[in-house]
Amino acid sequence: MLGCLPTLQPDELLYSVAARREDLLRFPTAEGAAREVFGLTKTNILVPMGLDYFIANLPPGHTHTINSIINGHTMLPLYAPFMPPAVVESTKVYVATGAMADNQCSIVFQDRYLPHTLRLCHDCVREDRERCGRAYWHRVHQAPGVLVCPVHTGTWLSRSHVGIRRHGKHCRKEDGFISCERALYEMPPGISEMVGAPPLQLRRIAADIQWLLSHNPIPLDHSTLRARYVALLHERSLATPGGVLRLTQIERAVQDYYSDEILTLLDCQLHLASEGKTKTWINLLFHSHTSHSPLQHLLLIQFLEQTPETFFADQPSATRKPFGDGPWPCLNPVADHRGELIVEQLNIQSQLQDKAKLIGTFICTCGFVYARREPNRTDNDRYQFDFVRFYGPVWDQALRTMWDDDTMIVQEIADALGVNYGTILRQGARLNLLFPRRCLRSVRDVRALRKLPGPKRAKWLSKRQTYRQRWLDKRKAQPELGRQGLRDAERPVYVWLMQHDHHWLQRHMPDKRSGGKKHNPSATHEARDA
Ligand SMILES: [Zn+2]
Ligand SMILES: [Zn+2]
Repeated sequence: MLGCLPTLQPDELLYSVAARREDLLRFPTAEGAAREVFGLTKTNILVPMGLDYFIANLPPGHTHTINSIINGHTMLPLYAPFMPPAVVESTKVYVATGAMADNQCSIVFQDRYLPHTLRLCHDCVREDRERCGRAYWHRVHQAPGVLVCPVHTGTWLSRSHVGIRRHGKHCRKEDGFISCERALYEMPPGISEMVGAPPLQLRRIAADIQWLLSHNPIPLDHSTLRARYVALLHERSLATPGGVLRLTQIERAVQDYYSDEILTLLDCQLHLASEGKTKTWINLLFHSHTSHSPLQHLLLIQFLEQTPETFFADQPSATRKPFGDGPWPCLNPVADHRGELIVEQLNIQSQLQDKAKLIGTFICTCGFVYARREPNRTDNDRYQFDFVRFYGPVWDQALRTMWDDDTMIVQEIADALGVNYGTILRQGARLNLLFPRRCLRSVRDVRALRKLPGPKRAKWLSKRQTYRQRWLDKRKAQPELGRQGLRDAERPVYVWLMQHDHHWLQRHMPDKRSGGKKHNPSATHEARDA
């Protein structure tokens, strides 16, 4: 059991509270202190391992959890938003148990921009002593790129003598746990060697890191991160919408935005490729599949006139559900399951015109894919779409069947398939259907037929079928007959068809010159029309 554990202060490193405890207990060796607190002989200053052990040994009645410790008292929340979610999770397992699953979490432990020694703000030291009696190591002061206190924005940070190993995973044995008060007593850091007011861009980086540490935005994988950068770079003509980056121009623009002095202070100088140097960090940021320092991301985000708040707010939030919970209805008007809640698959993206708003694409198993934009206007919106992305095989087959039904006019097909007149013609062309489409002689005829009572209409259709068949049979039986001969041989049939089924008759007359051939010898028409 960990007795005598001082209360964790806001934004205090877990290392710091362990060091304050050591001040009280005076362990003979650093390993003894680490083993007692974390169950390990060595641990990391900024992201300590062994949190399972730490939590399990806290006195009863405490309210800490692994997540509350990681989010409030380690540096991991600064890195997590820029790491793939799966890597964040495996890093958390490593931090909890001390057992490394793979090497992917290395950026958290090997960030080259981490300071060499712990830093402090003399104004914070004074205020902490007044507020809680002791100074302590603030997490935000140790973040890569933080040279200015984000609270006391005019104050440069000062370096202590307590070392942070950058490329190792463990704190140095001989350093032990050194509290902020002990560091101030043993070797008080002078006021920072930097003079003058800190530049605005450095103050913004400190504020951005403060925001990231306290807000825990949802992590983005590499491709989403890249897509977000591409969209913002495209607005500045520094990338094509397809994602081709104009790297040299980007590097020049970033170099123009930040002064050489600031880039040197942050160790983020840009050696342009045209000067024959190696790849710049911007180039590596876009072209390698490993995670990169949050400092590099924040420099780019500030250059793109964003803050982490706006940059991460653009993403479709996992908790925001503008289209409600699934399943959603299938809106294919000719599917058996029309209107039933069977659509399980929903893709949500930002709208192109307004990135704060979302667009949902609903994908049904019948192949019908529709999309709806935010915002919802009424509760009934679930049963409406803004446009169709794909009609699918069920809908296509319905259009083919109706297209061939010459008792339907186009507008009726459009109404039955839930689209407008022009869409029917466009989709008919997509399906290579027969153009121009043949229906009865005129729209008026179709309407007249529609108005007939059921039995009369059936009688009419059956009569047409009989006459068509007689016409075809006669042609087949006497192919030598020309137009005139056929007309004379089947006079009543010809007259009736001429009046009521003009388009069909035109397609099934013998050829004008040579007597025996069909005008339009299409086997499929024969089969279909018969
Ligand atoms: Zn401060
Ligand atoms: Zn469906």
